[in-house]
Amino acid sequence: GQEKLKKSVSRVVRTFSSEHHYPVVIANKPLEEGCEKILVRSPHDPKQVLGTGFFANENLARKAIQTAKKAQSAWSKQSVDERASYLRKAGALLQDKKFDLAALIAAESGKPCEEALMDVDESIDALEYYAHEAIRIFKDDAVWSRSPLWQGWSRKPLGVAAVISPWNFPLAILVGMSAGCLVMGNTVILKPAEQSPLIASEWMKIMMEVGLPPGVLNYLPGRGEVIGDLLVQDKDVDVIAFTGSREVGVRILHLAQTSDRPARQPKVVSAEMGGKNAVIVDEDADLDQAADGVIDSAFNYAGQKCSACSRVIVLSSIREKFLTKLKHKFNSMIVGNPLAPQVRLGPVIDEEARGKIKDFIESAQKEGLPILAEKKVGAFLGETALQGYFVNPVIYFPTPPESRLAQEEIFGPVLVVLEAGVFNEALELANQTPYGLTGGVYSRSPKHIQAAKEEFQVGNLYINRSITGAKVGQQPFGGWKQSGSGFKAGGSDYLYQFTRLIC
Ligand code: NAP
Repeated sequence: GQEKLKKSVSRVVRTFSSEHHYPVVIANKPLEEGCEKILVRSPHDPKQVLGTGFFANENLARKAIQTAKKAQSAWSKQSVDERASYLRKAGALLQDKKFDLAALIAAESGKPCEEALMDVDESIDALEYYAHEAIRIFKDDAVWSRSPLWQGWSRKPLGVAAVISPWNFPLAILVGMSAGCLVMGNTVILKPAEQSPLIASEWMKIMMEVGLPPGVLNYLPGRGEVIGDLLVQDKDVDVIAFTGSREVGVRILHLAQTSDRPARQPKVVSAEMGGKNAVIVDEDADLDQAADGVIDSAFNYAGQKCSACSRVIVLSSIREKFLTKLKHKFNSMIVGNPLAPQVRLGPVIDEEARGKIKDFIESAQKEGLPILAEKKVGAFLGETALQGYFVNPVIYFPTPPESRLAQEEIFGPVLVVLEAGVFNEALELANQTPYGLTGGVYSRSPKHIQAAKEEFQVGNLYINRSITGAKVGQQPFGGWKQSGSGFKAGGSDYLYQFTRLIC
């Protein structure tokens, strides 16, 4: 794989140019007129233009909604096997193009190549899984409908779905959400994040290549502040599948519930949001394993995963030993150009994100939080670090649990260490944030592991392993508390939320 990836990177990099246009697509037709034209740049080297993107205005958003509405009835009348076959064909095409797509993800989102490849793999898995699950669900319905004593039941799609996705899993999340809505019979308007329109556009092209009928999937890149509220509030949008920050997710939940739709069902919203994830390192943990897992979870992809570890809670009796190992592992991290195969930590996504992270670092300085370890990427990368959106990775210890850094999602390469006297105290500290997405425990104590299973308030708990990288179909992903309101992505119940059952 490494050799193929290297070849793809050098081939794809040569094709980048502002001459390549990535237009809005409605009813399978490319549209540029009336759009805001933008140059998409690479976060590790913003001088590098990757392509020209087009952001839709409100009129195009309305047109996309009406187009999706018109296409919905015919689409829902196709059999589930037919709908699933589009997903499977798209999965095969993603497989063929996987190394080129990974190279584009790395260049556009600053995601290290190896992880970009996993992003594509996860997309392929989601397509296969949702195709399979949709067929199972409709077949189960059919079994219940065969009873001679009973009229049975039928399952209907909700209608038109707005899929609103983040930039950090720029392919896997939008493929998963849009495939889930489509295979259950809904038509879709796909609004990707502003920072990653090119890879989203590749997904649209693939769906056209497999012959998806016009209007079934519509590609609507645009600014959230321009078209977001319209997509959420329009009376003809029936379901919103959103993944992103808590701030935007909560706003969508509120607006969707208060939008005016006389004689229609309230909008269904699936909102997957942020995290402030903790790992507990117990007294009897394998400390090498724990240090490896914590550093990987906290710093790969510059900490820009919803599942990333941003707090580690260490038991006092092993504090010194663990922190020595943690620093050692931290110092060996390779920071740099995400297109280089050995790099695990690249830039952050853009200037705005860098500004937000710097703001957290300034507030740590004001609070007087001591730094345990810091990597000066300027010294390491020279000019490149200054041009790209790089941030110095840093670990703080000790950190008061109530400090801003220990409470708010930073979404950058910043880790805080907290200390607990006993395991139960560590669990209490872990639960003391508004979020509940992922969590981890390194321990050899069956009693403590059981306590974590019962008390740790997270959607995904990992024992003696890193806390990122959930597998579709095996580790359904999603949180509770302020981290999520929907069904778990990649799980067997995910698809039900996009339908209604009629008995
Ligand atoms: P974001 O700022 O919330 O943006 C997510 C999407 O919402 C983007 O497409 C954005 O468009 C759009 N948006 C912005 N304002 C909107 C509005 N008023 N109405 C409708 N849509 C609007 O999040 P992000 O920075 O892209 O992604 C990082 C966040 O996502 C982190 O908090 C992370 O934890 C979370 N995340 C969660 C999961 C999970 O599964 N729980 C997975 C990945 C990421 P623009 O780009 O145009 O602003």
